[in-house]
Amino acid sequence: MVVVMDDEQRYRAVRGRDSRFDGVFYTAVRTTGIYCRPSCPAVTPRRENVRFYRTAAAAQESGFRACKRCRPDTVPGSPSGTCAPTWWDGRSG
Ligand SMILES: [Zn+2]
Repeated sequence: MVVVMDDEQRYRAVRGRDSRFDGVFYTAVRTTGIYCRPSCPAVTPRRENVRFYRTAAAAQESGFRACKRCRPDTVPGSPSGTCAPTWWDGRSG
């Protein structure tokens, strides 16, 4: 399923802490230099301070660091299959 969202819809998902969008996009907060999953339990940042990224890597490349609460740098079992789960390497399970 391809969902086309504009930033307004993304921001609404973040305000609702909608976990359905985990892995779909990431929110980066200009004022803190942190990026999050949409479902992050932290206080929703102001709209004008938020930027959206398609991948955690893109946010990271822009200089943002992963949030310690929602851990957006780990794969949430996303079925989108954009990249191989290399973090499974060397693990039996
Ligand atoms: Zn977070």
